[in-house]
Amino acid sequence: MNLILMGPPGAGKGTQAELIKASYPVPHISTGDMFRDAVQEGTELGLKAKSYMDKGQLVPDEVTIGIVEERLAQPDCKEGFLLDGFPRTTAQAEALDEVMSKQQRRIEAAINISVPEEVLIQRTTGRVSCTRCKSVYHVVFNPPQQSGICDKCGGELIQRSDDEEETARKRLQVYQQQTSPLLDYYEEHGILHNIDGNRDAMQVFADIQEVLASIGKSQ
Ligand code: ADP
Ligand code: ADP
Ligand code: ZN
Repeated sequence: MNLILMGPPGAGKGTQAELIKASYPVPHISTGDMFRDAVQEGTELGLKAKSYMDKGQLVPDEVTIGIVEERLAQPDCKEGFLLDGFPRTTAQAEALDEVMSKQQRRIEAAINISVPEEVLIQRTTGRVSCTRCKSVYHVVFNPPQQSGICDKCGGELIQRSDDEEETARKRLQVYQQQTSPLLDYYEEHGILHNIDGNRDAMQVFADIQEVLASIGKSQ
């Protein structure tokens, strides 16, 4: 199952990816997580990505496409993958199609999660995540049992610096300008599935499961 999860910052891509992974054991490939790991480790990639991420801009296509191509070439992606936060530009989508067609594979579904803008801002500005296991919480919508501490592993919960309101709003603009045109791209390819993300996470997941079941049947 080769899947793409799309949606603006805060739509719930990471949250849904965790739920999908539990029922469909495919690797979860989040370019945002890959860049944050690289920044934390201080690698060359991290140094390149950091200045763009801090400003709420996209990391340049040649860098991003390169790391995704490398990741998709790993053996664990042979049976399928779940891309979260990639592609975000038309060039990225075209590069992905090229990689797929070289391997005689294709993307089976692009699942687009929609949420109104002001809700997105509430979600991103209240998001905290575990420094140890990366679990994501929300200070109001999905709070940990003990403030600042991860329920799952006891690790420290921190806010992402790019989730501060001004940068979060900038990221929404970038999404509108550079990423939303991709919805037409996948619509034209007949694989776009729109999901109302402004509901309880489990309700959103139920709709995603329906989409996944329908793909399974058409294979
Ligand atoms: P969110 O989950 O809030 O949508 P991500 O964690 O996916 O955010 O991305 C964080 C940042 O990492 C982006 O603002 C951007 O700078 C960079 N990034 C992630 N994915 C991509 C991509 N496909 N292309 C370019 N930059 C990316
Ligand atoms: P994305 O990966 O698209 O940026 P996340 O999955 O990280 O989004 O979710 C953003 C924030 O919103 C997190 O704090 C998360 O706990 C919260 N969240 C995710 N899904 C929902 C939902 N359906 N209802 C309320 N809050 C949610
Ligand atoms: Zn944790």
